[in-house]
Amino acid sequence: MLPYGRQNVTDADVEAVAAALRSDWLTTGPRVGDFERELERVAGAPCVAVINGTAALHTAYAAARIGPGDEVVTTPMTFVATASTAAMLGATVVFADVEEDTANLDPAAAEAAVTPRTRAVTAVDYAGHPAEYDQLRKVADNAGAVLIADAAHAIGSTYHGRPVGTLADLTTFSFFPTKNLTTGEGGAVAATEAGLLERARAFRTVGLVRDPARLRHPDEGGWHQEVPEFGLNYRLPDVLCALGSSQLRRLAAFKARRTTLAERYDALLAGVPGLRLPVRRAWADPMRHLYPVRIEDGRRREVYDRMRAAGIGVQVNYVPAYWHPAFEDLGYARGMCPVAERFYAEQLSLPLFVDLTDSDQDRVVEALRTILES
Ligand SMILES: *Cc1c(COP(=O)(O)O)cnc(C)c1O
Repeated sequence: MLPYGRQNVTDADVEAVAAALRSDWLTTGPRVGDFERELERVAGAPCVAVINGTAALHTAYAAARIGPGDEVVTTPMTFVATASTAAMLGATVVFADVEEDTANLDPAAAEAAVTPRTRAVTAVDYAGHPAEYDQLRKVADNAGAVLIADAAHAIGSTYHGRPVGTLADLTTFSFFPTKNLTTGEGGAVAATEAGLLERARAFRTVGLVRDPARLRHPDEGGWHQEVPEFGLNYRLPDVLCALGSSQLRRLAAFKARRTTLAERYDALLAGVPGLRLPVRRAWADPMRHLYPVRIEDGRRREVYDRMRAAGIGVQVNYVPAYWHPAFEDLGYARGMCPVAERFYAEQLSLPLFVDLTDSDQDRVVEALRTILES
């Protein structure tokens, strides 16, 4: 089965991991800081590496002190973790609808969803295409809320020439194997403000503080460290940071290949009946994580089944987050975000990854054409 996404791992990656395994540190050694500094060069803001993208979201909400009584406005067109991690901290998630074409959080819908309890607005750069950050910034500022970017799809993307990582107060990344670069499991939080960064770092490290200036009981002894606020162990090990640093060296090449493949799909699929292709705003230079097409005329399920039967691992991204039973059980009902639900009903992700060959891509196009023209 041709997958919809997969990692690119080279001998250089393997050697970097082997060198880390032979070193003195398996976790929290020098490679963590190295990886964080290299990430900062891409994201444009200091980063804290964490164990996955879900942990990154949990850490970002914790750093923003999201908790019971707070509302978090976000998009349903995302992986459930964007919303579930806020719910796990006791916040109420308020889903706002998406733009009809990009499937990104609609600033007008987000604004309409704001209440006096809104403490965070979380956008998702769907498929790698940045959300409308300048408008979302106004919505968040007017609400007195933090702006969070779930950029699990969008490391290396830019918005009006500004890198994803600098557009929100907190930005989260995922390095899962299907994403744009991988550490196996992995993620990061970028923060544009020192206090948020420091709280993210502490939360990632069980809440432990060692800095003598910050200890409540500084005379306890040389061994002493304290937990002023609870955290979790979300550390990304040295061994995986070695892989991340090695992968990051190819990020520009990854972006170039993904762009070429997406533009090839654009050209090869233009004019196919019953099909809508993804859009790109003039101001966006996206890292093309997904190639999300729309299958019209109620044929999405049929096309999904027939493509899979033909050995082509298409995917659907995503079931609206509030359709998950955990949200249903909290009282969220279908119909809440009709634009997102219509998008979901038609959405299909075609295979897109660095090692996808032109001939495999031709096979995807031919299979899709054959189905849609019959
Ligand atoms: C992958 C993903 C996550 C979660 O990342 P993991 O590393 O799998 O935990 C969160 N949000 C979005 C939009 C994602 O695509």
